[in-house]
Amino acid sequence: MNTHETTTPSPTRATTPVGATVLGYPRQGRGRRLKKAVESHWKGRTGADELLATGADLRRERWQDMADAGLSEVPVGDFSYYDHVLDTTLLLGAAPARFDELPTGGSPADRLATVFALARGTTDQPPLEMTKWFDTNYHYLVPEIGPGTTFTLHAADLLAQVAEARALGLDPRPVVVGPLTYLSLAKADEPGSDFDPLTLLDALVPVYAELLGALAAAGATWVQLDEPVLVLDQPVEVLDALTRTYTALAAVPTRPRLLVASYFGPLGEAAPVLAALPVEGLAVDLSTAPGADTRGATLTALHAAGPDLAGKRLLAGVVDGRSVWRTDLQPALDVLAGLRPLVGSLDVATSCSLLHLPLDLTTETSIDPEVASWLAFARQKLDEVVVLATGAEHGPEAVAGPLAEVAAARASRQASPLVVRPAVRDRVTAVGGADTRRAGTAEGRRRRQQERLGLPLLPTTTIGSFPQTDELRRARAALRRGELDETAYDTAMRAEVDRVLTLQTELGLDVLVHGEPERNDMVQYFAEQLDGFLTTEDGWVQSYGSRYVRPPIVVGDVERPAPMTVGWSSWAQQRSEQPVKGMLTGPVTMLAWSFGRDDLPAADTAAQVALALREEVLDLERAGIAVIQVDEPALRETLPLRRAERPGYLAWAVRAFALTTAGVGEDTQVHTHMCYAEFGEILDAIIAMDADVISLEAARSRMEVVDDLVRADYPHGVGPGVWDIHSPRVPTVEEVVESLELALRGGVPAERLWVNPDCGLKTRGYAEVEPSLRVLVEAAGIVRRRL
Ligand code: GLN
Ligand code: ZN
Repeated sequence: MNTHETTTPSPTRATTPVGATVLGYPRQGRGRRLKKAVESHWKGRTGADELLATGADLRRERWQDMADAGLSEVPVGDFSYYDHVLDTTLLLGAAPARFDELPTGGSPADRLATVFALARGTTDQPPLEMTKWFDTNYHYLVPEIGPGTTFTLHAADLLAQVAEARALGLDPRPVVVGPLTYLSLAKADEPGSDFDPLTLLDALVPVYAELLGALAAAGATWVQLDEPVLVLDQPVEVLDALTRTYTALAAVPTRPRLLVASYFGPLGEAAPVLAALPVEGLAVDLSTAPGADTRGATLTALHAAGPDLAGKRLLAGVVDGRSVWRTDLQPALDVLAGLRPLVGSLDVATSCSLLHLPLDLTTETSIDPEVASWLAFARQKLDEVVVLATGAEHGPEAVAGPLAEVAAARASRQASPLVVRPAVRDRVTAVGGADTRRAGTAEGRRRRQQERLGLPLLPTTTIGSFPQTDELRRARAALRRGELDETAYDTAMRAEVDRVLTLQTELGLDVLVHGEPERNDMVQYFAEQLDGFLTTEDGWVQSYGSRYVRPPIVVGDVERPAPMTVGWSSWAQQRSEQPVKGMLTGPVTMLAWSFGRDDLPAADTAAQVALALREEVLDLERAGIAVIQVDEPALRETLPLRRAERPGYLAWAVRAFALTTAGVGEDTQVHTHMCYAEFGEILDAIIAMDADVISLEAARSRMEVVDDLVRADYPHGVGPGVWDIHSPRVPTVEEVVESLELALRGGVPAERLWVNPDCGLKTRGYAEVEPSLRVLVEAAGIVRRRL
């Protein structure tokens, strides 16, 4: 009995129920238990049965988290031993034919073996390709679909999970990647073919129809079909296909109620189409972004869709499933109050699956309690949706406690000297056009630098890191455990730098690196040294398969309290006659691989990071470092999903790079590095970055990037990777010679061509690194003599 409703008569409150739910939850378990179990199985230490038992345990644990928070309907099927898109491929019987030797017994152990074979490859088949899941740092396994692909339902695993949840007394809501999204994310199974997987949509829909029947029979009352592709720019044909697909699915006679979930951004032109689908429910992303009215746009569209929503269930994603910040409850309650009269039933939801957040804030022991009070990880977001549902249903008085707590946390955050640093704000405001413009022309600088460096034609270099040996990792672990003191650790790292320098000199490389042994990670290393960044102990987030990363959190204005790399670089430079490159991670990458702020636009944070790095660049220059590399491997991956937002993003990204690097003299050589070769629409931005030399991936794509750069009159030095470091294979002298000649024939002038691997060497072993670099140097020599 709700007394509040009788004292405050309100027809909508009385009639529209409010629930709470999440679109998905992290899989890892506490202490990254899933990673450990999976890797132990891979190493042959534990059998499939043991791993399957751990999986069941982990599913129970995550449902328990949800039940403890007060959720009764729970997502099912979002748990995965490796990747949920791969699971969908198996569910639909769409594993590529090249894997037809895999176990087909249909037992859970067979299925597990198939999952890992597709994910990791077999002795004669490479794994499925991996790519980024929208604009997150999660990677999924790309389905390979061709004209010959057939689809058949293999739902035993999903149905078993539904039964598992029901046995625990929970109301399971199966979560499956929707047909449109599944095919949109697939690639043609023949390389180079222009086959469009979406043409198979009508062949795929019957399998989903069959799935719906099976789920209904298993007792699922709702099914969540994820269609995040709806937040991308979509041509009208795709939106028509959406309507066709869901009209067909809605016609399945016995089925659960259909919930179509969109996420990762505002819906735009897809909003009215989604709202008009003959389905019973929809989920929309109502998260906010600082400096952009993303929530407002979707709300307007929902209100415009009014009559189409009447009677439907709406999952209002007001709790940002990708942000580590605590939700501001009052504005969310206002949004919910506005939506409630429009719909048949309302759920307070996360904007997307919580997969992209660390599991639980309470396991962080070293975050200052005040700062911790500003944050919410996945477990805490469960409480948020429940509090908001209570507030939306019974009025703000019913959640006065949490509202007051959040208000206090926000006030403490706004007033904290950790958050707003007036000096930083002033410095950013004072940046003028001249600060982002490098002195001199590309050609003039090249000549000045050449006078200073005296490099041969086709200079050889590497991208920065050398192998992270077990010995280095052991030293870092010992330092963390307190078994090694700072001095001893430092000595070990310096010895390693010495070894790496000596090796490079022996090999005959021209521009050396110190090898980055002291860096745990190219972002975390700098985040630990910059004010404004917070690093976590246990904030793991799945990157792919059993790989997890711990993104730092940008808590406040960013500032450099002291030089970060100057000691290492200048020490290394003193020990060599040849130039040793200074090595920094660029501002865009620092942000892309961190959790950003919700109180400052990313562009502003980027400018702050850029100013901090600019000081580092200038200190390196003063310390006599003549070549400074600023890596921006994340520049392209941060490209916004919507085309309309890309020019704005590229403008601030380029400006941040320029602000980082443009302060140096004409005879200091600025390098940048990117790990990919397809520039496409970012080509102009790459030119505008105005780095003196760019090194990039090219070995796998046979130097195609060179044509793009030449066609665009790229005026700077280019180092197209001539050794694919992603494979242990040592290249032959002939193939490296051929790659270099290809680049020269393609139009890169000899005085601007560099010779380097594709990427850093930290994941490789010396057994491949030494011979491969020897090959590079030899090949460069051969081509040089022919010039
Ligand atoms: N300098 C870094 C390294 O060599 C670059 C890494 C990267 O591009 N991802 O490891
Ligand atoms: Zn790289």
